[in-house]
Amino acid sequence: MPQTAVSDALNDLATRFSGELLQPLDAGYEDARRVHNGLIDKRPFLIARCRNAADVADAVRLAREYNLEVAIKGGGHNAAGRATIDGGVMIDLSLMKGIYVDSEAHTARVQGGGTWREYNRETQLHGLASTGGVISTTGVGGLTLGGGLGWLQSKYGLAIDNLRSVQLVLADGRVVTASANENADLFWAVRGAGANFGVATSLEFDVHYVGPTITGGLLLHPVARARDVLRFFRDATSSLPDELTIFAGLLHGPDGTPLAGLIPSHCGDPAHAGASLEPLKRFGPPVVDNVGPMPYTAINQMLDGGFPRGALNYWKSSFLSALSDEAIDTIVDCYSRVPSPMAALILEHAHGAMTRIGVSDTAFPHRRTGYNLLFLTQWTNASDTDRCIAWTRESYAAMQPFVASGRYVNYLDDDESGDPVAQAYGPNYTRLRQLKAKYDPTNFFHMNQNIRPA
Ligand SMILES: Cc1cc2nc3c(=O)[nH]c(=O)nc-3n(C[C@H](O)[C@H](O)[C@H](O)COP(=O)(O)OP(=O)(O)OC[C@H]3O[C@@H](n4cnc5c(N)ncnc54)[C@H](O)[C@@H]3O)c2cc1C
Repeated sequence: MPQTAVSDALNDLATRFSGELLQPLDAGYEDARRVHNGLIDKRPFLIARCRNAADVADAVRLAREYNLEVAIKGGGHNAAGRATIDGGVMIDLSLMKGIYVDSEAHTARVQGGGTWREYNRETQLHGLASTGGVISTTGVGGLTLGGGLGWLQSKYGLAIDNLRSVQLVLADGRVVTASANENADLFWAVRGAGANFGVATSLEFDVHYVGPTITGGLLLHPVARARDVLRFFRDATSSLPDELTIFAGLLHGPDGTPLAGLIPSHCGDPAHAGASLEPLKRFGPPVVDNVGPMPYTAINQMLDGGFPRGALNYWKSSFLSALSDEAIDTIVDCYSRVPSPMAALILEHAHGAMTRIGVSDTAFPHRRTGYNLLFLTQWTNASDTDRCIAWTRESYAAMQPFVASGRYVNYLDDDESGDPVAQAYGPNYTRLRQLKAKYDPTNFFHMNQNIRPA
């Protein structure tokens, strides 16, 4: 790279850039280069902390002109560390947090660097919400562009099912809108594969009346009852109202006790939630039951403490073909060897509105009722890294007889074998490759779960 030419271009850009341009010796660079997963330790040549679409377009053009690789950072939660890059340009959206709610039109627009905590705080001022992440610190951008599972999915669909439009900066620096009426093919692609197609500078959602008080919490049982708890979970999830979403998990309490938990969230009128939740509360009984009415924003933050920024993370996940007794036995057996009290094994149940959308209506194809299994391994001591990664891989391998072919793109790790991106998009993959060739023929946006242009 011709250093003086890049330096001149950077000096020129600095005269009009609204955000911050950080290089390795600048104050703030060390913090800005970090992402949620402490295992990721990359050093971009430039961090362009943008404030608006014009900053993003200029950063894209600069990277193009000087052949610099680009990564896009939204909330920085991607476990595989796709938000950052060694030597290239990190387009950091984390200063772009503007949110505007139109309470009459029932829409909310958020800039590309907002988190779910910020979005929910603003939409709940009006008693409104759309499906967002289970943890409040996750980015709206990255989570939505890959699909977006969350507490409201069975009532209102995935995050993408609530998306009305997206403003994007494309690989050639153009700013476009993608919606049902404008660039409809691009709108189809961004609903599940968005990170491959451009930088989403803002996202507009349909919002619905939710809460502000809904019903949820944790029901925790001794891990010795894990088999019974997971079988009960399977039976309980065979028929649920759309308002009720239940996840299950093997995890540790704050004092290090291993536990088997059910995590329900009922987004309907709290007066009607009791009847649906009663069987869950009666089962066991649990040693901890804090399920009750609480603000929707509190449910979104209820599990945040278990996911500290900077913890070391390694994840594996797959949809299951069925949650058979044998699959449950294998899950429980794997968890009996768990190497870190911060490691959890989560089963996310899918039903309701998110499963009533066609497989090819959006790029995200996983529309069947069923379960996603997530090995969510976290630890803090670097000397535990090999052990924790080995356990996750061995456990994931042990579950292979029970997994379906589909994978959730937002949970893929860096070292997947086979063709995980093809598995993530299934029957929609060919069309996505064609659209990638149309909108990003040189694969400029490749720091993602990459779709190669056809
Ligand atoms: C603690 C934790 C909890 C999670 N909970 C959930 C959950 O409840 N539901 C769920 O579905 N997933 C969940 N995830 C997974 C999450 O969806 C992905 O990690 C997602 O990639 C995070 O988005 P982000 O913006 O925070 O991440 P980033 O790492 O910033 O971005 C992830 C990917 O998206 C791209 N990207 C981000 N923003 C934009 C943008 N504006 N325009 C274009 N590309 C962009 C990045 O380039 C990168 O490839 C969770 C992850 C963590 C760590």
